[in-house]
Amino acid sequence: MPLALCAQRPSVLIVDDDPVVIRLLGAAIDEIASVRFVLDGESALKMIERDPPDLVLLDAQMPHMSGFEVCRRLKSSEAHRELPVIFVTADTDPDTETLCLELGAEDFISKPIRAPIVLARVRTQLRLKLAMDHLRKAATRDQLTGVPNRRMFDQSMQREWSAARRSGLPLSVLMIDIDAFKAFNDTFGHPRGDDCLARVAQALESGMRRPNDMVARYGGEEFVVILPDTGEDGAKQVAEGLRAAVAELAIPCVSQSGREFVSVSIGVATHRAPPVGMAGRKARAGAHTFECASAADLIRMADDALYAAKRGGRDRVECASKGRDADAESPGDISNPETD
Ligand code: GH3
Ligand code: MG
Ligand code: MG
Repeated sequence: MPLALCAQRPSVLIVDDDPVVIRLLGAAIDEIASVRFVLDGESALKMIERDPPDLVLLDAQMPHMSGFEVCRRLKSSEAHRELPVIFVTADTDPDTETLCLELGAEDFISKPIRAPIVLARVRTQLRLKLAMDHLRKAATRDQLTGVPNRRMFDQSMQREWSAARRSGLPLSVLMIDIDAFKAFNDTFGHPRGDDCLARVAQALESGMRRPNDMVARYGGEEFVVILPDTGEDGAKQVAEGLRAAVAELAIPCVSQSGREFVSVSIGVATHRAPPVGMAGRKARAGAHTFECASAADLIRMADDALYAAKRGGRDRVECASKGRDADAESPGDISNPETD
């Protein structure tokens, strides 16, 4: 993608203890990037933590913390190892250049500063960075709806499951399915169906309140929500909020049991570690919360609850306990949504 066409100008952080060098570098690249600068390594790390740029131009020799140390720390941090670094140094010793590249830096520019070379190298690295950002996003987001995809969900679920096991905090999962969506597609056509899916997904995503809450497309017209550190009451409240948010979209549908607008059914399941002394046993720790054996078990319970919501008439929220009570019925009973 041409840099000039980016919605936002890419941002470059210049780290150098010499203001003259900062001015020269800034002037060389300011036509393609928005430029910030700091005069030492500590400040660079703080600024990157607060507001990461797309590229760092890093002086190798600085007092207190050298550029080498800054680069070493960036490249060993989970959050910033992908941030491209170009070293800028007066030291032309090939060993220094080798060291820079071995530390994981993307490129190396030697002083004295020659503006066209700086511009060309920065442009190349920014292009690569933006292309990588695009690929990373494509790998983790569902293309149609823009929300995280199944793969991202699987990773996040495993992470949150392990965290909940360690902390003993509850973990809730919501399974959400659009009601009578086959009839919607059959009546209005697939493009309108796609549009409806995207709008529902956006409404669900807008309903996420905490930074670690996450909605993902599970598959087809089904979404899943992970709510860390959330007990059943909280999860039920979130689910009711999401159901209302979809209803408020007021997307006209094929009339279903008097419903005029697209609705969703939601199954809620909550895992809570068993009380002390009951570890290892399948315990019923609260009214409707269970110790689950695995993340897959928790998802299965949310799925059971979703089926119960479908059986109960759709456009509603059900909790896992009720889903279990109704296990006797066959899933075949719910395959045909009731129509008027
Ligand atoms: P229920 O209330 O029991 O969930 O009924 P339903 O019709 O929603 O369920 P069913 O499983 O019978 O149909 C799901 C429909 O969702 C059928 C399928 O064509 C549609 N669907 C799945 N993915 C997409 C998609 O990406 N785009 C569109 N337009 N439709 C999709
Ligand atoms: Mg210096
Ligand atoms: Mg459905």
